[in-house]
Amino acid sequence: MADLSKRITGLTPGGDDGWGLFYRARALKAAGEPILELTIGEHDVRTDPAILEAMHASARGGHTGYAAVPGIAPLRQAVAERLTASSGVAHGPENVLITPGGQAGLFAAHHAACDEGDRAMLIDPYYATYPGTIRGVGAVPVPVAARPEDGFQPREADLAAAAEASGARSLLINTPNNPTGAVYSDATLEGIARVAEAHDLWVISDEVYDAQVWDGRHRPFAGLPGMFERTLTVGSLSKSHAMTGSRLGWVAGPEAAMAHLLNLATHTTYGVPGYIQEAGLFALRQGPEAQAAVAAPFRRRRDMVLQRLEGQQALRAIPPAGAMYVMLDVRATGMSGEAFGAGLLEEEKVAIMPGESFGAAAAGHIRVALTLPDEQFAEALDRLFAYADRQVEKVVA
Ligand code: PMP
Repeated sequence: MADLSKRITGLTPGGDDGWGLFYRARALKAAGEPILELTIGEHDVRTDPAILEAMHASARGGHTGYAAVPGIAPLRQAVAERLTASSGVAHGPENVLITPGGQAGLFAAHHAACDEGDRAMLIDPYYATYPGTIRGVGAVPVPVAARPEDGFQPREADLAAAAEASGARSLLINTPNNPTGAVYSDATLEGIARVAEAHDLWVISDEVYDAQVWDGRHRPFAGLPGMFERTLTVGSLSKSHAMTGSRLGWVAGPEAAMAHLLNLATHTTYGVPGYIQEAGLFALRQGPEAQAAVAAPFRRRRDMVLQRLEGQQALRAIPPAGAMYVMLDVRATGMSGEAFGAGLLEEEKVAIMPGESFGAAAAGHIRVALTLPDEQFAEALDRLFAYADRQVEKVVA
């Protein structure tokens, strides 16, 4: 075999990139073990059948050919309206490119912002694909730690120092955040805006969890004064409408940048199937109530976790303000997130993601996805807390 490119072989240089435990849990499950999985961000409820009806009707109606590469006009319009309403900055269809999921949007946005060898900042803890996405466009990831004692809100001074030292072209932010559940405060966002301005950065704002906020409100970064021109916003229907498998998302930004992103789409994805887009349009037209219904179980289960944390010492949490996860601090057990996760899977048949999978800043934590039906979720919590108690007893003994 001829040599492969360094770009592709170097995508995930750390081997499994923290997914080892996840694959072990999946293998055990496939072998018939009753594993309770609290790993990836996938709803326990499937896509609303009414959305599937719309998809079916569209496909049967003949929308199975090539669809407009930037997205069908009414969907770009509907996404633009959603962004205008949430950010307060007027967006038109020319500001929106429909992509096969937010992930493709993250790739396209970095492709637009960074040249080969450029530095691209991201906040650690981060969604596990981020460093590979940055490497995938030939750029070099520069993680900037957000600290647990700050509720995982990044500090302006840390960002400014990293921007200064690295000469970065871009900064990737994610609020509501995966894996921490943090929703960035006004002060955090304003600090990021000052750094972006001072260091002439593109801000790539991953807002795929914008419909899942429990405390406070989601503030789109493009809506901050002066930021629209330097922001590429990534969105998706995966989380808001339980449409992960439909692969439907977008990138939004200033028109001059979007013309080039469209060009990239022509040479990579060549668009998204028309019947998927029409189903997405139908989903958006269901309004905010439909999104709230999809989000409700996560809020309920977040509250279940917070209740369980009271009156025990083994685990701590920064109460998540959004998204579908809780980060638990397991340091009182004296274990790493990896070791805790491995033991929990072995002894209690509960699978979580170790914090270390999401960067160095989440060491000593585990991420619990709020993605099992309530009864099973309560059972998983029972086992998780029992396991944690046993580990603390060992430390004390
Ligand atoms: N960003 C974050 C923070 C995510 O958690 C995910 C999915 N887990 C994505 C982007 C990608 O989502 P999708 O491609 O399904 O839209």
